[in-house]
Amino acid sequence: MSDPSADGDALERAIRDIGGDLASGFPSNARHPLRALDARAMDLASSDQELKAALFRFVDVTPACRSLDDLARHLREFLREVPDAPPPLAAAMRMADNRAARTALGAAAAAGVRHMAHRFIVGETPASALGVLRELWNRGVASSVDLLGEATVTQTEADRYAARCDEALVELARAEAGWPGRDVLERDSVGPIPRTNVSVKISALTPLLRPDAPERGRRDAAERLRPLLRHAAELGAHIHIDMESLDSREAVLDLVLEVLSEDEFSTGPSAGLVLQAYLRDSPEQLSRVLEWARGCDRTPPLTVRLVKGAYWDHELVQATQHGWPTPVFEVKAECDRNFELLTRRLLDARPRVRVAVASHNLRSVAHAIAYNRLIGGQDRDLELQVLRGLGDQLADALASRGFRVRAYCPVGDLVAGMAYLVRRLLENTSNESFILRMSEGEDLEALLAPP
Ligand SMILES: Cc1cc2nc3c(=O)[nH]c(=O)nc-3n(C[C@H](O)[C@H](O)[C@H](O)COP(=O)(O)OP(=O)(O)OC[C@H]3O[C@@H](n4cnc5c(N)ncnc54)[C@H](O)[C@@H]3O)c2cc1C
Repeated sequence: MSDPSADGDALERAIRDIGGDLASGFPSNARHPLRALDARAMDLASSDQELKAALFRFVDVTPACRSLDDLARHLREFLREVPDAPPPLAAAMRMADNRAARTALGAAAAAGVRHMAHRFIVGETPASALGVLRELWNRGVASSVDLLGEATVTQTEADRYAARCDEALVELARAEAGWPGRDVLERDSVGPIPRTNVSVKISALTPLLRPDAPERGRRDAAERLRPLLRHAAELGAHIHIDMESLDSREAVLDLVLEVLSEDEFSTGPSAGLVLQAYLRDSPEQLSRVLEWARGCDRTPPLTVRLVKGAYWDHELVQATQHGWPTPVFEVKAECDRNFELLTRRLLDARPRVRVAVASHNLRSVAHAIAYNRLIGGQDRDLELQVLRGLGDQLADALASRGFRVRAYCPVGDLVAGMAYLVRRLLENTSNESFILRMSEGEDLEALLAPP
């Protein structure tokens, strides 16, 4: 039932009911998930574009600063670019004028950045993240661990990243084997779902991923991906391949579908890829994935994680600079409608694929749940995913209502985490962001209205 127009009213009613119920399950102060971020910085940043740009540049240089004094000087430099600094910033800038105060300011700024990063980054190593992962599991939330480390430029870095992924698989599988059973998180109609779940970036598995020579990068990455898949199969773990910017999309998709078609992987491990709904051609990409799934007898089925996409600004700038047509939707509602269309197609395609809907947008999430129920699907055959630090309250509300929910948990040091952090900040201070609209107190009815 890909066109639900006949049942449109029933679907909209169900979305309102489910969305309303989930919202009522948020803790009382959690209608404002931006509090999970540094609320003051976020409020200021979202209302002032120049300040926003300055803060982003500041966050970017933080790991490179050698001392607190250095950090304070940078902060002052960046804030100088803001014409009418709001009062707290003006005070900070005055403070930065003498050395003692500068040290104090630097310490406060460094602590602020670290505090903000730790909301998103669960630990420096898989071992140090285990406490948080276990606590999530106890609350009914599964996890996928992402090892931070972007922009691999040498073969040594790629080897190192692959080794870190492998160590994470071993470490997590060993620890997670001792956790108590949780049926909702570990089984759907198709069969068992691995506890251990690691998200992998192909661009970190090879330094050779270039749009002008995709074959070399694919071959190089495949050599590091295969041992990971083998080991995951032995350990009963899941490997999820993240999707990055459009220039690597074809190579990543070709690589994943090719490698997973190989005989040795025909019965495992559990694996998945990502579909980005902000891309105008995502419906064709989905057709390709579904055709692949139809043509290959692989078990367990491929998991497709549906997201809107994290590189929207980047794709727009790239296309504008080169004079290309923009590959992403430029109107948010069009992206949201496409997300819903893809959600319905994915849910209709089960059991050929497993479906994971990854969004913090209550409307997008409620739509997936409502449509699944309307076509007679079971709740356990739909996974919902959030980013740690952004979707914590939504995850708790979903878990408390018996849904399978998984939090994406980055692990790594602050330096490696900066690119990740900046993307999350950019995303959430955009005027179009659902989380920002919600934190500004927009009416629930408007938040749940059809896009
Ligand atoms: C578990 C998990 C895993 C993820 N993995 C990936 C991944 O592998 N690759 C990846 O790219 N992203 C990934 N993401 C990030 C995801 O793409 C963003 O979190 C998501 O786009 C935010 O969407 P939302 O539905 O939560 O919020 P919403 O506020 O509803 O949507 C925001 C999104 O809408 C889009 N958008 C914003 N403005 C416009 C506009 N003017 N016109 C059209 N579209 C617009 C952008 O994609 C923006 O991020 C993942 C997210 C989660 C939760």
